[in-house]
Amino acid sequence: RSGRSAALRARMEERLLGARFRYLNQQLYTGSSRDAARLFSADPAAFHLYHRGFERQVRRWPERPVQRIVRYLRRRPASLVVADFGCGDCTLAASVRNHVHCFDLVPLCPRVTVCDMAEVPLAAESVDVAVFCLALMGTNLQEILGEANRVLKLGGTLMVAEVASRFEDTHTFLKAMAHLGFRTVSKDLSSSYFYLLEFTKTGPARPGPVPGLRLRPCLYKRR
Ligand code: SAH
Repeated sequence: RSGRSAALRARMEERLLGARFRYLNQQLYTGSSRDAARLFSADPAAFHLYHRGFERQVRRWPERPVQRIVRYLRRRPASLVVADFGCGDCTLAASVRNHVHCFDLVPLCPRVTVCDMAEVPLAAESVDVAVFCLALMGTNLQEILGEANRVLKLGGTLMVAEVASRFEDTHTFLKAMAHLGFRTVSKDLSSSYFYLLEFTKTGPARPGPVPGLRLRPCLYKRR
C-alpha cells in the first residue's frame, strides 16, 4: 500500500513540475527578455525548475543542437572569441578551447555572467562568434539581435539554432536578418527538430521596424 501511494505521489509531483515548466516556458516565449530577467531574479527556484523541464525536452531529441555548434567551433581557430547568449549549463564553453563569454539569467555554473541578453557587458566589436542556441526566447528579437550585432566584429559569425516549428517563413526571417546586418552564410533545415543558421555580420543593424522578424513561441503540450 505505502509503495502504491509513494508511486502515486511521485506521479502527482511529476505532473505539477510539468505544468509549472509549461507555464514558465510560455511566459519566456511571450514576454520580452526584460520580463524574463525580472521573473527569474524574483524567483531563482523557477529557473532551476525551468531547466529541469528543458533538459527533459531536449533529451528526447536525436541530437542536441549545442553539439552542432561545438562541432562547428572545433573546425575553426580556437583563438576566436565567442559569446554564448543564453548559455544554460555552459555545455558550449566546457566543450571548446575558445574563450567563451557565457550569459544567462541565473548562473547554472560559475562561469556565467548574469545579465539580460539584450544588454551584455561586452565592448562593441569585441567578439568573433555570437551564439544563440535555443535561446531566442524574448519577444524583443530586434533588440536582442541588435545587441549581438553590436558586440560582433565586422565579418564575425552569428550562429542561431532554433526549434524548427518556430519559423513561420524562413525566407522572410532571413530577409529580416539581412536588415539587421546579418548575411546568411549557410542554413541547415534538414532536421525536423531544429534549424541551424549561420550568418556573417556585414555592418550595423539598420534602424526602423523589421516586419518579418518573428518567431512563433515554442509551447509544449501536456503529455
Ligand atoms: N544554450 C543552452 C540553453 C538553452 S535554454 C543549450 O543549448 O543547452 C535557453 C536559455 O536562455 C536558458 O538558460 C534561459 O535562462 C536563457 N535565457 C532566456 N532569456 C534570457 C535573457 N533575457 N537573458 C539571458 N538568458 C536568457
